[in-house]
Amino acid sequence: MTLRVLPGGRDQGGPGLLVRGAAEVVTMTGGLRRGASQDDPAAITADASSGGPTGPRAPAVAAWGGRIVAVGPLDEVTARLSAEGLDAERFAVVDARGGMVTPGLIDPHTHLLFAGTREGELRLRQRGAGDLERAASAEQLHAHGRRWLDEMLGHGVTTIEAKSGYGLDVETELRLLEVLGVLGDEGPVEIVPTFLGAHAVPAEYRDRPDGTEAYVRRVIGEQLPAIELQGIARFCDVFCERGVFSAEQSRRILEAGIRHGLAPRLHADELAPSGGAELAAELGAVSADHLAAPSREGMAALVRAAGSPHPVVATLLPATSLYLMKERDAPGRTLIDRGVPVALGTDFNPGTSPTPNLPLVLSLACLRLKLTPAEALAAVTINAAHAVGLGETHGALEPGRVADLVVWDASSHEVLPYWLGADLARVVVKGGAVVLARG
Ligand SMILES: [Zn+2]
Repeated sequence: MTLRVLPGGRDQGGPGLLVRGAAEVVTMTGGLRRGASQDDPAAITADASSGGPTGPRAPAVAAWGGRIVAVGPLDEVTARLSAEGLDAERFAVVDARGGMVTPGLIDPHTHLLFAGTREGELRLRQRGAGDLERAASAEQLHAHGRRWLDEMLGHGVTTIEAKSGYGLDVETELRLLEVLGVLGDEGPVEIVPTFLGAHAVPAEYRDRPDGTEAYVRRVIGEQLPAIELQGIARFCDVFCERGVFSAEQSRRILEAGIRHGLAPRLHADELAPSGGAELAAELGAVSADHLAAPSREGMAALVRAAGSPHPVVATLLPATSLYLMKERDAPGRTLIDRGVPVALGTDFNPGTSPTPNLPLVLSLACLRLKLTPAEALAAVTINAAHAVGLGETHGALEPGRVADLVVWDASSHEVLPYWLGADLARVVVKGGAVVLARG
């Protein structure tokens, strides 16, 4: 197998792209999934009546100018193109060769940028997290980010959320966001940047009795105004956890973030019930992440929010629980059964989840959280899009949305989580351009 990462579509010969020859196209149309609808992938299949994947009524996807223009049986798609005055003969063609097509995967929770790995945990604890990142130059962070973004792309990921939070001082936090902005502009993987100044209490504050409170004041008074001025971050995140930042401190930071134009999201109840789920519901956060140990009240708050026009997406990170060797996982099955929209992310980070492989997380969600393959796929497409504020433009294959899609070496969506850790992404399309092709 050869793997080619192509420049942003410049060799496509035109803005039109037609994907045909698929056994199944998973569209995920119909908006945010919650409850029973999370199990509906809105798939179009090439059955015998359609003549199989090479037949005239096999499912196809057409894109023009970076957007989806038609999805459906091939004859209807080409008729639609003619009606729009577009010549299908001049479209670049991607032959799915009997594979499956899905929206590009979205990883809604990563810590993309860090310096150094954590094999030597003890040495790092002695130095205090943040030291390595403070020493890393923008060039070093950029090279690291580029290396892992390319790997994520190879797994079919076209958009990620990525957090600052390894600097814990204003200068390094700004540098991390700056690099995220550059990497996102370069593409092809799109990046939604999040400010996570309240990731941990820096070492120099930890020994002071009022250290956490002093650092919270620093995040609010010094970091947030600088982050707003820089204008790169879209979200403000907090590590709301017993012994780190309390729900009350998290609320103050997230409310200050809102005043600075940053939408709230949070690390909630990862290790112990800490009021994080309750706070997410109260603030109308876009996403509450981890949720491995929510309280009964926290679950009830998420269920109530799920019935509102702006539900909190529960972004679950099962690779982290696995890597930490935890017995307890997030209650993914219960959340879906009670109507809470669920998304899945890698939590890519050096300490607790060093994996860039989102399809692997899909498998873990089926094995450990008891999600169905369709529920897990919705969790990394349309629901993940909502979890990063892109729910109206990304995460589904329907006319008007950005043309991000993946051709998989799999005949149906049920095959995807079956192969544990395999590389099944064959062709990746971002903004209507082929950006990766295997074989
Ligand atoms: Zn995280």
